[in-house]
Parts: sequence; structure tokens; C-alpha cells
Amino acid sequence: MLDDYFSILNGERPARHWVASRLSIDAPGLENMGEGELWEVHDEAMERFRLAWREGSQPPAPDGPSLLDLKSLLARRMLTACRMCERRCGVDRTRGERGYCGVGDVSRVASVFLHFGEEPELVPSHTIFFAGCTFRCVYCQNWDIAMDARGGSPADPALLAAGLREGMRQGSRNANFVGGNPDPNLHTIIDTILALGGDGKRLPMVWNSNMYTSLEAMRLLEGVMDVYLADFRYGNDECASRYSDVDDYFRVVSRNFLLAHQSGEIMLRQLLLPGHLQCCTARIMEWVAENMPGVYFNLMFQYRPEYRAALFPEIDRRPSGEEKREALQIAARLGIALS
Ligand code: SF4
Repeated sequence: MLDDYFSILNGERPARHWVASRLSIDAPGLENMGEGELWEVHDEAMERFRLAWREGSQPPAPDGPSLLDLKSLLARRMLTACRMCERRCGVDRTRGERGYCGVGDVSRVASVFLHFGEEPELVPSHTIFFAGCTFRCVYCQNWDIAMDARGGSPADPALLAAGLREGMRQGSRNANFVGGNPDPNLHTIIDTILALGGDGKRLPMVWNSNMYTSLEAMRLLEGVMDVYLADFRYGNDECASRYSDVDDYFRVVSRNFLLAHQSGEIMLRQLLLPGHLQCCTARIMEWVAENMPGVYFNLMFQYRPEYRAALFPEIDRRPSGEEKREALQIAARLGIALS
């Protein structure tokens, strides 16, 4: 479990983004290409990336643009008709329009610090909290950050990269992009990793997301992210709609888990919601047992009613001891080894 992550940390192989920064893009005039053409070039380069990753090759630095540069360009193109997440608002964020998340074209950073509260394998984790979110969870514990996309300070990728270098000097084991949610900030995240350059060769990248990421964004994340620290919250669309105001949840999120499983390593987080043992926790465990047995699974019991949870009496309490015990029994019955 997390073999690649520890290999990167131990210096046995470079992080994925470093390999992507070493793969040249030979097509001339990228800036003038339409988005469809750019995706074709991207997909061809990703074939080379997968081969390089499998073989553990470390190509020399290219003279011209790299695969990582191309990913940056594509992320910026996506801003003009935003579909960073599956809400697919289609707004032109470069012209000041804002979609559901409310995040502008310049990301905003609520806080950055070395986080010691994440999973033990990750800490200390250099965590960048972006303002704004693609969900509206009624029990959000970070609501002050998540619901205020105009909070914090404008993000500067060069400064964020400088912070990552300083964090590495202080012992950080990874760069952890979260919020709110990282999805609306994909362009800023890729540009930060670009600015970090070769200094990040041994720094794994962590996508800490609700996984309602668009398919296009998932394609850009492959070859950049090493770990998906990923929430799998609901086992059905009704609960997702009621508590997070999101449609088509299970199809989108389960699809993205399968994609992440192919392109990186997953640390799955499942927050036990009171009264949602069977419809959510058990359903997710069954899906995991069937589709990705052996995946890192963190069953979390720390739910507490926050934000607007009091308006939903059925979740206005902590999970009971019996619910926790039953959740552990279901995991054991399905052969899920909890981390
Ligand atoms: S990130 Fe998602 S919610 Fe935000 S504008 Fe883009 S598509 Fe809409």
C-alpha cells in the first residue's frame, strides 16, 4: 500500500509531476492550437508518460515545452468555459464570471501550514487550503473557508512554490492541495508545481478532494498527482443531493475513484454520518470490496454536527457507539482492512 509514495519519499523514484516536466512536447505553436488539438497532443504525450513511469526512466530536461507545460495550458483553457468539476458551469472565469463555487480566475488561499492532523503516512503535510468549494455540505466543518470563495489572499504560484521549498526544509513529506476543494484551483495548482520545478522531484503531490472532479480535470491530474486523498461520502444520490446539493454523485465519484486507482494511489476517506450506516457507509464498502479491494480505507468517526446541521434533525448528533461497532463489523465481513 502506498508503495509509489514511499518510493518517491525514499528517493527511489521521482514524483510523477517531475517525469511529466521531463517529457517534451514537439508540436509547434501550442498557444495557437484549439483545445481539441491540444487534447490530442496531450493524450499522445500521456502514452509516453505511462511508459516512462512504468519503466522508471528519468528523461533529460526538454529544450521546449513539456507535458506539464501543456497541462498548464489546458487548465487555463478550461477556465474560459469552466468544467473543472462536474457541475460544468461553463462560465468564463477569465472574464470575471463565476460559477457555483464562486472561485474567480485567480485562486485565493485561506491558509498554508504544515499539517500534523492528516493520516500518519502523510504528516507533516504541507497543506494549502484554497477558499471556495464545489459542494455545499450542510455539516461542513471548514465552512468559513469553503463557503467564502472571496476570502483569503490571491494565490501566487511562485510564492506557493517558494513556500513548498521552505516546507521541505522543515520536513514536509508532501504537498497537499485542499480547501474547500482543490478542483476550481487546478490551474493554480499545476502552475505552482511548475514553479517548484526540479526542487519537487522528491515531493509527492496529494489531491485532497471530494472527487466530484470533471473527466477533463482527471485527465490533467494523471501524471501530476501521486496520491488521491479522496472522500467517498455518500452511497447514493439522494443523500448527496440532500446534504451537499450535488446531482449524479455516485456515478461521478465512483468513476473518478476508478480513474484515480489507475493513475495514482488512493487514500480513501469515509466519514460515518449518523443514521447513514446502511445507505452510505455499507454501500460504499460494498462497492470498494467489489471494485478496488485492498485500497487504503480510512473509516472516520469524527463527525460532529456543525454549520447548518441543526436544520437536519437526523444528522444533528454524533454517530452512536452501536453505529460505529456495526460499521467495523461490516468492514470485517467485506474483508476491508481499515487503515
Ligand atoms: S469549478 Fe465547478 S463549480 Fe466552480 S465554476 Fe468550475 S464547473 Fe462551476
